Amino acid sequence: MSEFDFDLTVIGSGPGGYVCAIRAAQLGLKVACVEYEETLGGTCLNVGCIPSKALLQSSEYYAHTLHDLAKHGVKVSNPTLDLPTMLKRKDEVVKGLTSGVQGLLKKNKVTWLKGRGSFVTAQKIKVTAADGQVTEHSTKNVVIATGSKPIEIPPAKFDRKLIVSSTGALKFDAVPKHLIVVGGGVIGLELGSVWMRLGAKVTVIEALPQILNGMDTELAKGLMKILEKQGMTFHLDTKLTETKTAKNQVTALCQKSDGSTVEITGDRMLVAVGRKAYTEGLGLEAIGLTLEGGGKVPVDHDYRTPVAGVYAIGDVIKGPMLAHKAEDEGVAVAELIVGQAGHVNYDAIPGVVYTWPEVASVGISEDKAKEQGLEVKVGKFPFMANGRAKAFGMTDGFVKIVADKKTDRILGAHILGPNASELIAELAVAVEFSASAEDIARSTHAHPTLAEVVKEAALAVDKRSIHI
Ligand SMILES: Cc1cc2nc3c(=O)[nH]c(=O)nc-3n(C[C@H](O)[C@H](O)[C@H](O)COP(=O)(O)OP(=O)(O)OC[C@H]3O[C@@H](n4cnc5c(N)ncnc54)[C@H](O)[C@@H]3O)c2cc1C
Repeated sequence: MSEFDFDLTVIGSGPGGYVCAIRAAQLGLKVACVEYEETLGGTCLNVGCIPSKALLQSSEYYAHTLHDLAKHGVKVSNPTLDLPTMLKRKDEVVKGLTSGVQGLLKKNKVTWLKGRGSFVTAQKIKVTAADGQVTEHSTKNVVIATGSKPIEIPPAKFDRKLIVSSTGALKFDAVPKHLIVVGGGVIGLELGSVWMRLGAKVTVIEALPQILNGMDTELAKGLMKILEKQGMTFHLDTKLTETKTAKNQVTALCQKSDGSTVEITGDRMLVAVGRKAYTEGLGLEAIGLTLEGGGKVPVDHDYRTPVAGVYAIGDVIKGPMLAHKAEDEGVAVAELIVGQAGHVNYDAIPGVVYTWPEVASVGISEDKAKEQGLEVKVGKFPFMANGRAKAFGMTDGFVKIVADKKTDRILGAHILGPNASELIAELAVAVEFSASAEDIARSTHAHPTLAEVVKEAALAVDKRSIHI
């Protein structure tokens, strides 16, 4: 008999936490997962990746019906929006997946401790249930996977009606007339796209000179141009300084980097300026764990915090705030705890923006390669020259591959175009396997597919694309 109630207690059931719990159970550990929300799955399943993608898909169907089907000879008279049904469907998708996670935990004999977890000691976790009942559980190891929350900024405090975070923008009960989006990052552009497709005027305010900060410049500029064509308005180099609200009206007072001012009035404002690590109520002080700069839980290469037996993964630690990064860290830390060689390759984590067209990236960008003085070759191929993209009627964008000049090894790949989110998988595997551009160029890609654009971009690295 173990001297502990659990070998491992995971605090948080997001993609980091629940995946870690399952992997640890597979490896033979007795595992508990603490979660205070009514449903499992964390931000990703409840108010993040999944509901946003459900709405992106539904709104895309609506926009295609309005604008594109007639070109294919499909005439639909007076398509109308049934927003309650669209929102209900989104909720059903979420419900199916969150109860799926509950089933997975059960199948793997992971105990769900319902309530808010906090440290009594590094090896004792207190769980406070919604009704105030407190239980304590001894545990050999703890993984903190408490995720993140939206950042609130002083000039635009969330009132959950006119000024909302991403969570509020997933459930507007009517299409805003004019949605002001503060922040031209992934979440702002995705949710801005949803409501624009459904009929809202959308204005994006971005403090930096480019949307999608950190993304390959050519991709970010290309996407912005296309979104502008779709009707989105952008104010770059523009900082929100104050917000005024009146009945059903919100006015953003902004200052541009040249000192001039802009005033924008709408009826809803989405503030999507980033997320911060969430550690409230965890009782880190009880175990003497202090946060590092930016409020993140400090960890070493093996996700160990400075407190013995306490690990952390996902949004609550450094690195990109992405569900698949959290999942892979969850698997790695479980394997490390049992003495295996868990590992995440941070150079091969893809990032996707699910706008239309989509944007996807993995590895180093052309700009970063130049900044770092790396000698690279770049191959690029447009969707315009691809048969399948023509058949789809979706020819915006390109694939760009950045390879080492001497070794031809693929260092990064960047896609703006239809189904970029799926196409990037091949290139993420290429980066993971240290493949060369030649490896991709020599691999047979089915015809006609969008994936042929990836192959042609790999050929372009050596200036030998065929179809252009
Ligand atoms: C609108 C939106 C869209 C997104 N889209 C994508 C996308 O398309 N792709 C992608 O990769 N990422 C996306 N993300 C980011 C993604 O959701 C996060 O990176 C991911 O959920 C992080 O996982 P996590 O396990 O670290 O934390 P979380 O998913 O945040 O889960 C943490 C969990 O811990 C629980 N918790 C916190 N404190 C305690 C406590 N003391 N006791 C018990 N439980 C606690 C919380 O209730 C929560 O359930 C999106 C995010 C948002 C907001």
